[in-house]
Amino acid sequence: MKKIAILGSTGSIGRQTLDVVRAHPHRFQVVALAAGGRIPEVIEQATSFRPNIVSVREPSATPEVRAALDRSVRVVSGSEGLHAVAVESGADLVVAATDGAVAFDAVFAAVERGISIAVANKELIVAAGELFIAAARKSNAAILPVDSEHSAIFQCLVGEPKERIAKLILTASGGPFWTRDREAMHHITVADALQHPTWQMGMKNTIDSATLMNKGLEVIEASRLFGIPGDRIEVLVHRTSIVHAFVVFTDGNVKAQLAPPDMRLPIGYALAYPDRLPGSTDVDPLAAIGGGREAASTALGFERPDADRFPCLGLAYKALAQGGTAPAALSAANEIAVRSFVEGGIPFEAIPVVIEAAMDHAAGHELTLDAVREADRRARERAEVEIRAWTAATRR
Ligand code: MG
Repeated sequence: MKKIAILGSTGSIGRQTLDVVRAHPHRFQVVALAAGGRIPEVIEQATSFRPNIVSVREPSATPEVRAALDRSVRVVSGSEGLHAVAVESGADLVVAATDGAVAFDAVFAAVERGISIAVANKELIVAAGELFIAAARKSNAAILPVDSEHSAIFQCLVGEPKERIAKLILTASGGPFWTRDREAMHHITVADALQHPTWQMGMKNTIDSATLMNKGLEVIEASRLFGIPGDRIEVLVHRTSIVHAFVVFTDGNVKAQLAPPDMRLPIGYALAYPDRLPGSTDVDPLAAIGGGREAASTALGFERPDADRFPCLGLAYKALAQGGTAPAALSAANEIAVRSFVEGGIPFEAIPVVIEAAMDHAAGHELTLDAVREADRRARERAEVEIRAWTAATRR
């Protein structure tokens, strides 16, 4: 039995991780759960999976959770709770699936103790990836990517010499606006941006995929996880999200990973690694790559991305080239800009403008966890200033 702890159990990745565990009850045991606000849901999860530790964000929520669960369950809260779930639960694998920077300390503490981490927390790798990978190398902790593109690259690289990698290619669905021309991009509403063609995700990720910032963050993530510089990582738009990534080797051979767009597949790979999950061998060849069981044919198309219409992608390359805390500033400023867009504060096309100004202001060369936090804070602050300036200018 592999013991699993989940940071962010009621989010999209957390819930799908529990789906995988539920489907393989003899392989995995949930030993700890940490959730943010959804108290009834975490109670339900804990009742069904019986972890030893349950953590919630607010201390005020602990009496309700304690009253609902068996007395042997340890109910904790806040950063102490995240730490307990990651480090004190006896987990073999911690699934880091919280958003933002809230669980950085807990995940670092786990990785320093040599506990394997399945990472879905993009900001962790984007903002603090170099520190995180260095800590994992030191303690011999395995870092298993959960993001579908990175899981794909990870799978393609099994048994391959790193020095023979020519390029890593991440695919992007293109989001809901791929077919819009520049003019029509000025009239994008929040409702438009929330229509994702292939993946079911949270609000923040859906907007990030509409701006292609999601892919930009993934380029940074790939660079950190696989130790490949930004100029050897490229993006191709692939509307159906069946090929998740491919690796071009120096001998000209290319390996790709294909699967339907279902996050439970990369999650299952990370949970089972180095094994794979068992399952049915009665597989229809077209259905296996996302076509219908009755389909007669399917096609895989790829297009080059369009940097003009999607400036966020270029901003991510800029942050990666700059290094230091630029990726942390980029990611933090993006969060603020996206939130403002969703709340009706700034228009869609202002998102990259706000991010770039905040990044230029907040990024520094020093790279420590404290410097990352400071860049994060300064970028958020500056993004708010930029947003106010934008709103004031458009009202005038
Ligand atoms: Mg992805």
